[in-house]
Amino acid sequence: MNTADIRKDFPILDQKVNGKDLVYLDTSATSQSPVQVIDAMNDYYREYNSNVHRGVHTLGTKATDQYEQARMKVRSFINAQRFEEIVFTRGTTASINLVARSFGDAVIEEGDEIVVTEMEHHANIVPWQELAKRKNARLVFIPLESDGSIKIESLESVINEKTKIVAVAHVSNVLGTINDIKRIAETAHQNDAYISVDGAQAVPHMKVDVQDLGVDFYAFSGHKMLGPTGIGVLYGKAQLLDEMEPVEYGGDMIDFVGMYESTWTDLPVKFEAGTPMIAEAVGLAAAIDYIESIGPDHILNYEQELTKYAYDRMSEIDGIEIYGPKERAGLITFNLEDVHPHDLATALDSEGVAVRAGHHCAQPLMKWLGVSATARASFYIYNTKEEIDIFIEGLKRTKEFFS
Ligand code: PLP
Repeated sequence: MNTADIRKDFPILDQKVNGKDLVYLDTSATSQSPVQVIDAMNDYYREYNSNVHRGVHTLGTKATDQYEQARMKVRSFINAQRFEEIVFTRGTTASINLVARSFGDAVIEEGDEIVVTEMEHHANIVPWQELAKRKNARLVFIPLESDGSIKIESLESVINEKTKIVAVAHVSNVLGTINDIKRIAETAHQNDAYISVDGAQAVPHMKVDVQDLGVDFYAFSGHKMLGPTGIGVLYGKAQLLDEMEPVEYGGDMIDFVGMYESTWTDLPVKFEAGTPMIAEAVGLAAAIDYIESIGPDHILNYEQELTKYAYDRMSEIDGIEIYGPKERAGLITFNLEDVHPHDLATALDSEGVAVRAGHHCAQPLMKWLGVSATARASFYIYNTKEEIDIFIEGLKRTKEFFS
């Protein structure tokens, strides 16, 4: 990977923030987009902006082709068996809500158990809490090891004949833990349960093969993988999606509409009521091209190299606490003694360094860690060791200022 060349594709990185060169270490919240993605979306608006699946005119046909090609690209990117298994949504949150509402309402009965972990993002807890309430079912948590990884030996007891759905993150947005989804999927299926995976922090950074993982549902967002906001994906096994009811109704998703009754069209459009995110799908396809041109394995290796470098350098600072296992994806969540993470993030911002501070939409995990908030630095293909050095110097200066 030639990071200098990659950085040329990201015009946003070439700017001063508060008089300093921008160091963007907040990719886990939202990644930046290369010109290839921006240009693809621009071309759509300049050349063929039109609705899909409707008009027979040239622009409408081109928009439909590009939108459906984007779906095909997602299919091969995550190795789904069929394009019908790729539903475009607004993002990971919308994808998980769709599974909980449609699939969850159909399969969960009173007394059933839905298994999650304490490391989940709110998007992968609250929809299941609400489902459990609607159905009088129970939410059960897989315990965590002291370093924040899943207690793998407890899987067999927590996932049992009462379990109907296991909902777990592939990669934690706070701890960086990479969960053994294949193993969890096997345990779920041995117990006749289904597995739904929150892949928001995995797909941008590593090869994800939904067939190899053996998952029933898998959700992710465009804006964390070099693509635009406003689009995400729900992968679902065709047989399951086929049996599920839509949760939104309106144009495009129908087959026939009568005065009092209607029928739905085929997968996947059955779940895409109304005008979809067309420019965003085109942008997402360009983002996938970009990721594939570098190679997901290279991306993971490079990020882990950066993360190890940052971890070692951060560990030299007195009073720093780093959360999560040593073996992790490209992010580091931490606290600096006597400095509130918001103050820390503000101090770093004054030096041009963007990190995230807060509860990271993971309040149960904050409780588990015994803190109310943390700071987080996250890395991607466009970050460099020199940027990490600037971040470390910023941390040291902030510590001195507050001590
Ligand atoms: N799940 C995880 C692990 C995340 O990190 C995020 C975003 O931070 C989400 C879900 C929600 O993604 P979105 O806001 O794109 O729906």
